[in-house]
Amino acid sequence: MVLLDGKKLSEEIQAELAQKVSHLKSEGKKIPHLAAVLVGNDGASETYVASKVKACERIGFGSTLIRKESSVTHAELMTVVQQLNSDENITGILVQLPLPKHIDEEKVTYAISPSKDVDGFHPVNVGRMVKGLPCHLPATPYGILMLLEKYQVQTEGKHCVVIGRSDIVGKPMSILMSRNAYPGNCTVTTCHSKTKNLKEICLSADIIVAALGRPEFVTGDMVKEGSVVIDVGITRVPDATKKSGFKLKGDVHFESVAPKCSFITPVPGGVGPMTIAALLMNTMNASALDY
Ligand code: NAP
Repeated sequence: MVLLDGKKLSEEIQAELAQKVSHLKSEGKKIPHLAAVLVGNDGASETYVASKVKACERIGFGSTLIRKESSVTHAELMTVVQQLNSDENITGILVQLPLPKHIDEEKVTYAISPSKDVDGFHPVNVGRMVKGLPCHLPATPYGILMLLEKYQVQTEGKHCVVIGRSDIVGKPMSILMSRNAYPGNCTVTTCHSKTKNLKEICLSADIIVAALGRPEFVTGDMVKEGSVVIDVGITRVPDATKKSGFKLKGDVHFESVAPKCSFITPVPGGVGPMTIAALLMNTMNASALDY
């Protein structure tokens, strides 16, 4: 069993990006600049945004964190996005989700200029992804593709089962694994909460991508020998022994699944750091997109 080490690969990618940035600086060229918008005080969102901003600083990107109270109005937030769209120094924009209930999340994220939408959530980016055109790929699936490529995991002709059909992970992952490219060329089955016989479907999978947000849902008896298992889940589970009061659990029961796998991602240290690396790659490449 080989551990797909997302932490190590993410560090390698960040080191390469840092070199590119210092090259851009030495040539007096514009450097990538990510603006992150954070609304409210949700603990997990604070942690995610802080790690994204810190990563930008570490590799020499510009970064701006815009914080708004959870009482911010929809109109105010739209104005923030529009200002960032027209700011030439800002190359990438992300609005950390979820947003408070009174804000129309779709309207806000769709207001981001597609070429600055480094999360890859805008319908223009989604459409371009489906068509195989240059675009910002959604960060988590993009990070998974880079991990599969780095470890030369064979995907062609394989049966890939994606558990979850969210717009940010499951749906794009299914599309990307079925595209005519590497990594891809899989026969894909997309599963969700209404899927029947999930265990049987998983047992026929060569590759499983678990993205449902249910801690340790995928167990050893659901996985065939030699499978590749990608664990996207991150759930905070209470743990009194930890200073934070919680520990992070994936969607895969690692102890029973790992011994059957050819490759598996750990949680933490697998898909999470790769999502950050992918976001930074999108931010680096944003100025090359002209739509
Ligand atoms: P989501 O929007 O809640 O979607 C969950 C999906 O799982 C839905 O499609 C749902 O089906 C399906 N599902 C739920 N229970 C199921 C069950 N018992 N059997 C089969 N399918 C089931 O979640 P998400 O945003 O995609 O995130 C999924 C997990 O990944 C979460 O733990 C999240 O924290 C984590 N995540 C991690 C990263 C990272 O960087 N590592 C990034 C993003 C998300 P329905 O459509 O029928 O409801």
